[in-house]
Amino acid sequence: MNLEYENKLAGEFPFMHRNSEALKQNYISDLYGAFGFECGDGWYELLQEMCVEIAKAYTNQSVEIDFKPLQIKEKYGTLRVYFATSEEMYKPIQKIIDKYKKKSETICEECGQLGMMRNDLNWIRVLCDTHYQSALNIKPEDKLKKLPEIFNQINKYIKDGYSILEAINKTKNEAE
Ligand SMILES: [Zn+2]
Repeated sequence: MNLEYENKLAGEFPFMHRNSEALKQNYISDLYGAFGFECGDGWYELLQEMCVEIAKAYTNQSVEIDFKPLQIKEKYGTLRVYFATSEEMYKPIQKIIDKYKKKSETICEECGQLGMMRNDLNWIRVLCDTHYQSALNIKPEDKLKKLPEIFNQINKYIKDGYSILEAINKTKNEAE
């Protein structure tokens, strides 16, 4: 997801704040801190609604929010959220996460419009008809043509003083 959306979510929900040091470690254990929301921009509203419900669940129980995202990504087409929290809040939060995983089955990951699971692409994804059509039209050789451009951009960031992982991540965020 693009940085603007990530920052918006972290601004609205402090528990979504990312540890910017996470990427600098040799062995990355904090995947959310390092990579943020590993899904398309189309799920922004879905994630925003999910965060509202998470915050509410703590308020309802009069518990201080100790929700910690460990990894948020798309897997086999749907939204996956791995997290840590206190024992008493684990079940109610897991219930919310499951609900939003189910919701993601019908929301285009590219644009947020109504979509469905597409099983005949290289990658299982939920896409609307328009984005499904454009995904079908991307030929493997078109992707290869973009490679030199991608490597140049990564190289530029490394020269600017970023670590290799940071450079890759910045390039990836821009390409999305
Ligand atoms: Zn779409």
